[in-house]
This record gives sequence, structure tokens and C-alpha cells, in this order.
Amino acid sequence: MNTEEINDVIRCYVKAGEIAYRVKKNARRLVKPGVKIVEIAESIEREIKELGGFPAFPVNISINEVAAHRTPYIDDVEVIPDASAVKVDIGVHVNGYIADTAVTVVLDDKLIPLAEAAQNALMKALKAVKPGAKFREIGKIIENTARKAGFKVIKNLSGHSLGHYLIHSGEVIPNYNDPFVLGRFRTDRAYAIEPFVTTGKGMVKEAKGKIQIYSLRRVKGKPLSEPEHKVLSEIIRRFKTLPFCERWLVDVGPVSNLRASLTSLARKGYLNQYPVLVAVGRGLVTQFEETILITRDGDVIVTTNPEIHL
Ligand code: MN
Ligand code: MN
Repeated sequence: MNTEEINDVIRCYVKAGEIAYRVKKNARRLVKPGVKIVEIAESIEREIKELGGFPAFPVNISINEVAAHRTPYIDDVEVIPDASAVKVDIGVHVNGYIADTAVTVVLDDKLIPLAEAAQNALMKALKAVKPGAKFREIGKIIENTARKAGFKVIKNLSGHSLGHYLIHSGEVIPNYNDPFVLGRFRTDRAYAIEPFVTTGKGMVKEAKGKIQIYSLRRVKGKPLSEPEHKVLSEIIRRFKTLPFCERWLVDVGPVSNLRASLTSLARKGYLNQYPVLVAVGRGLVTQFEETILITRDGDVIVTTNPEIHL
């Protein structure tokens, strides 16, 4: 890429981050006991589009022991419970360049230390990022911060590099000092750092129950019925390789047919599935996340929070 193209990519990352920052601020106000999570998610996703971006994945609203990958169904009845820890994870893309950010809203003062542990871990980690810094050193900082506050990190959830239309582009930024992670931060890259802190055992597992988030895995394979073909074409056209959910396909046909098509497309290998992840031992979970961009000059920009200067 030439300089002009690189500057254009940076502009897209920065714009996606600015939109994410604004909607994240509003999300804090939307999370109130008794409010339906489907209303919160749709409000955030609508605002992203109004501001000139697109959702890079369905808004995740994961409550208490649920750590990630919970997005509301079309007719979801779940409401925000009293005294809960609510993680809102938001993705925005501009021309495929992604801002990935998350905030935890705690609805009981007793949960503040758990939320602050994740937030402090993220701030300390961000301050240590520079070209050449080891990913596992970031993990060490995150784990130590959580431990000093009396909590554990979730070891099988991690930060990641971001690619064009790719949420996870291959590199892993662990939330602990993982000896098997050998990568280092490099210039001209975007990364998401996302500590998960818990009162539980420090691991998540896949929950049983219906899949809520999918992404395209392949475009050719086993024969498809007419409705399956229609749904798959819309997925390719609308989302490319980015994750999506049934709410984003509500206009394609009746809900029961849509659900049947998604299930069969996944079974035939066309779609990846992302099960809801819950804490082992049912501990509570908090999470904060910011996206950073390391420029060619080695500057580290927190795209999702202009108030953080490193
Ligand atoms: Mn995220
Ligand atoms: Mn992420």
C-alpha cells in the first residue's frame, strides 16, 4: 500500500473507533434493570448506522456468569436483572476496518471492585503496548492486576489482532503470561485488548442451547434448498466474513424458516457457530476492551477512546 492508501485505512480505523466510543457511552445509559436486552442491542446497532458505520458483529449483551457471545434473538424476552454485571461488547466497521470495544455496567456497588479490576488491567496493559512488546508481557500485566485485586482472569478468552473484515486475524493477546504465545506487537497493525476478570475458576465453557451468532465459513459445498440458498446469498452480500445473527436477516423471510435455514447451513458446513460462553463454576465476569492501532511511526492510538493518551 502507498502512503495515501495507508492514511485512508487509518482514517477508517479512527472513524470506526469514534463511532464505537460514542455508542459505548450511550450504552451505559441504556443498561437499566427491567429493560429488554433486544431493545438495547437494536438501539446501539441503529445508532452505529446513523453515525455512518456498520455493526462489525451483533452487539453482545452478556450478563453475570455469561462471558460472551450472547446476542438477543428477534423475539428475545430477557431483561436486565437487578444487581447484575452487564457486559456490552460492540463492534463497528468502516469499509471493513474494525473497532472492537466493551464495557461492563455494574448495577450493584458490591460489583465495583470486580469491574475496576478489569478496567485497571486494561489501562495498565495499554500503557505497556509499543512496537516489539511481547503479547505475553501484556498478559502478565493483566493477570497480576486481577490477582492483586483478589480475582482471576479468564484464561481461555483473549485479545486479538484485527484484519480487514476479520475480527480475529490470527494473533492472540493472552490475558495471562502464556508461555506458548510468542508474538509481539508490530507497526501497521490493529489489535483488541480485552481482559476478562472473574470470581469463578478462570475459564469459560460453551453453554448448551441455541446458537445466536454465526459467520460465513465457505461459499460452496453440499447442495442447498431454495430457502437455504436465498439466506446464504444474503449472508454473503450483507456480512462477508463478519459475524451476524438472526435479527439481521429478519426481512429475508418468516422467522421459523430463517432459523431452520441457519441451522441447516451450519450443519452443511457453510457457517461457523459461536456458542454462548459461560464461566466455569458460575462466577461473575467483567470485561473491558479497547482497540488500538500502531502506526508506521510506532504511535499507539486507542481508536475506541480518544480520552486515553498513551
Ligand atoms: Mn469485543
Ligand atoms: Mn475482541
